[in-house]
Amino acid sequence: MSRALVSLGSNVDRHKNLPAAVRAMHQHPELTVRETSCIFESPAIGGDYPAFLNAVVVLETTLDPATLKATLRGIEAGLGRIRTEDKNAPRSIDLDVVLYDDLEDAELGIPDPDLSEYSYVAVPAAEVAGDWVVPGRNKTVAQIAEQSLPPTLRKVPMAEQDLDLTPDDAFEEYGPADETFNPRFEALVREQLEILGEDPDREGVRRTPFRVAKSMAFLTGGYTQSLKEVVNNAIFQSPDSEMVMLKDIEFYSMCEHHMLPFFGRAHVAYIPDGRVIGVSKLARIVDVFARRMQIQERLSNQVADALMECLDPLGVGVVMEAAHLCMLMRGVQKQNSEMITSALRGSFRSDARTRAEFMNLVGHELR
Ligand code: ZN
Repeated sequence: MSRALVSLGSNVDRHKNLPAAVRAMHQHPELTVRETSCIFESPAIGGDYPAFLNAVVVLETTLDPATLKATLRGIEAGLGRIRTEDKNAPRSIDLDVVLYDDLEDAELGIPDPDLSEYSYVAVPAAEVAGDWVVPGRNKTVAQIAEQSLPPTLRKVPMAEQDLDLTPDDAFEEYGPADETFNPRFEALVREQLEILGEDPDREGVRRTPFRVAKSMAFLTGGYTQSLKEVVNNAIFQSPDSEMVMLKDIEFYSMCEHHMLPFFGRAHVAYIPDGRVIGVSKLARIVDVFARRMQIQERLSNQVADALMECLDPLGVGVVMEAAHLCMLMRGVQKQNSEMITSALRGSFRSDARTRAEFMNLVGHELR
């Protein structure tokens, strides 16, 4: 999973287009909007044009930078953006990749030079990504923002902007009130709220069934993904036979007993036998199985078996450490307890030295 900082600007129908763009990004299956800045207003450059509203968002994405840029162009087009000769012409929406992990690629324009030029990029960016070190600049976003603040940028007060860019609110504001995502599921959530003693028509929960349906679809997205489509073309021939390991893969899953989250870190290793897999795919494979109703033991086993299946390696080791909300929030309420599971295959099981090397890398005593 990569992290990208994307800047937004609009000076045509701007109150509508800014949240619509956030929403379109969030709805895209390969993009998740993690954070949104406040909204700022900046005068247009190079002509007598209406002022812009600007903001930035932090995305999580599995798309590579070039595909991400192309995807954002698609979203711009969907919101009526027409690119013309005049690069200052009014526009419904402008979406630019400002930062992408620690990538420095002049051809792609990442980092976006505008970050250092214009406060309307730097200042909102500093709100949500102040600590991000800008590749090639040896400065954080916050330091760049401090140096670039001209007096023309105006933070639009919440009362005035009458909209919030968090994806849920963007839905709330501009999605049709009767918009549905999964009517059958939403009816169940509504009934559940009623049974719990809520008034499902109360303002704050009126759209909750819709939101629950959407978030549940994401959290259980593993049901509709296959190992094959996730692995796609990322298996390569390689003579290497050293242990390959990806540590601290963050994962979020839900226990099948209580439908409450459990989450933590996975450590995945294998010893290749002619084939290796792109390292980011290890994290994707964890997600395919984590985004279902699970028990942690089975999740570990499924990840291990999946790697055996697609790489046929000499061995696989998976260790998962997770906190379970069903234990933390209820029942025994053991705070700080983490559950650790492991799944070992092939040489990780049969060869004590391999197993010891793996556990040593994980940083755990073998249990
Ligand atoms: Zn549970």
